[in-house]
Order: sequence, then C-alpha cells, then structure tokens
Amino acid sequence: MTKRILAPSILVVAIVLSACQWSGGDGSEKKEETPSSEREATPEEKEQPKEESSEENDTNSNDSEEDSEKQGNDSIEQDDQSSMEDSAAQPSATNENGVLQEHKSVTAVINKQRQLPKDYVPSDLVVPDVPFYFEEFHPKKQMRKEAARHLETLFSDAEQAGIELVAASGYRSFDRQQTIYKGNVENMGEEEANQVSAQPGHSEHQSGLAMDVTNGEVSFQLIQEFGKTEAGMWLVNHAHEYGFIIRYPEGKESITGYSYEPWHLRFVGEELATEIHNSTSTLEEYFGIVPE
Ligand SMILES: [Zn+2]
Repeated sequence: MTKRILAPSILVVAIVLSACQWSGGDGSEKKEETPSSEREATPEEKEQPKEESSEENDTNSNDSEEDSEKQGNDSIEQDDQSSMEDSAAQPSATNENGVLQEHKSVTAVINKQRQLPKDYVPSDLVVPDVPFYFEEFHPKKQMRKEAARHLETLFSDAEQAGIELVAASGYRSFDRQQTIYKGNVENMGEEEANQVSAQPGHSEHQSGLAMDVTNGEVSFQLIQEFGKTEAGMWLVNHAHEYGFIIRYPEGKESITGYSYEPWHLRFVGEELATEIHNSTSTLEEYFGIVPE
C-alpha cells in the first residue's frame, strides 16, 4: 500500500503529520481547505523545512537519540504492562510540578497540566504490524506493546469491514518534542506555539500509547476532514472496542486543551475506552479533572 503513495503524497503526509506530532498539535481548519502545496506554511512546516523532503519528516534531528532510546525495548516488557486495568476513576497522581507519578499507567492523563517525566521512555516499545505511510523503520512507528497489539486487531477488523486505515505517527521522545516545540516558539512566539503544540513532557506521543492514523481519502494527511470519512466515523463507533479513544473530540477543545483531532488515537484499555465512549466524555471529564 505504501508503494502507491508516491513522493507527492509522502511529502504531504510528512508535512501534516507533524501537527499532531507535537502532541496534539493542531490539525487546524486552514489545513483542510487548501492543498499542502498551496496553503500557508503551518508551524511544523516552518519548523522543519529540511525534513519535508524526506519521508522521515520531522524526526531527522533526533534520529540518533531515538535510535538509542528504542534499543532493548523488545526485551524489556515487564513493569510497563502492569497497570493496564487500573481504571478506577482516579487519575494518577502528580507531584507539585504536575509530573505524573504513575506515568506508566495506560490510563494516565497527560495534558497541558500533567506531564510525563523528562526521562521517561517506555521499555516495551514495538512496531505494530499495520500499514504505515512509509516503509522503513522509524522510532515513530512504535507503540507500547499492548497498545500495538490492540491496534493491530483494530486495523485488521477495520480492513475486514472495508475501512482503509494507515498509521502515521506513534511514539515520540521528550527530546524530539522539545526540539519541535522550541522551533515553534522561535517561529511564532510562545503564545501561538502553545496553541498548536505541546510542550515537551506534555505530549501523549511520549507515552507510546498514541497513534495518529489517516488514509487515502484525505491524501494521508492529518486533517479534521478525516473525521467525516468512512474511516473516521468507523473509528468513532468502534475504536473503544479495541481500547482506544478519540482523545481530542470535536466540541471538547476547552476541556482537552487541543483542537479536534479525529486522527489521534489514545490507548487506555477497553474498559475505560468503553466508558468514555458510552458517556461521550474525555479523559479529563471521566477523572473529574477538567481545567477551570
Ligand atoms: Zn497525535
């Protein structure tokens, strides 16, 4: 499938992907309305022009670091999987700086107020066996093992249902997020940067529990239009069956802190995902920690 996505598409994907890669980034409306070749450069595009020429897009600057981060991930799987079921309606605690104390929990709420430890790299990262828009290895193909296995089943069942899905971006290191965020601040100022990208430590992608997905209907971009596609609607109705939620739903921007991102899937386990789905809520609402 990726073979069919030739250079132009790859470029488009590479550009747009980075939006979410900042965590939740933006995927703002303006991106939907014009082809990437014509639209105004988005923050991420400005931030990493050199990287757009490559399928690797936004990660070149941190390749070596990320390569080292992922080493040994397949062989160490123990404690990261321990807290899969702890979805009693209490968010994991944070210290006075908002750093999560049970950051390995799959139900950890990571947002603008709550962050992962700087040095946290999940120890059980693997590459899910699903189609990506590019073929070669890249750290961002990774997810934590249990999330990856669930994603594989989700993709498989979607395919059975005639739904096309392509994975775009999963794990992202603290350092890479920091590089991207700094670039944004330099390009657009801190205030605007905070609206479109997460500060390092605050991106769900660092948890290894998030994956951005897209497909050919939206030219493999991460844009809000994806939510209106058959695949986007299928995810809304079925993602929870595989333990995933649409983390940044439409109409919940003031609660999640981010604009609508129909492409950003967050693994929280089937039980919690189902509760959130059935109540059309968010992680923040479920745990009663909606920002004021
Ligand atoms: Zn994302």
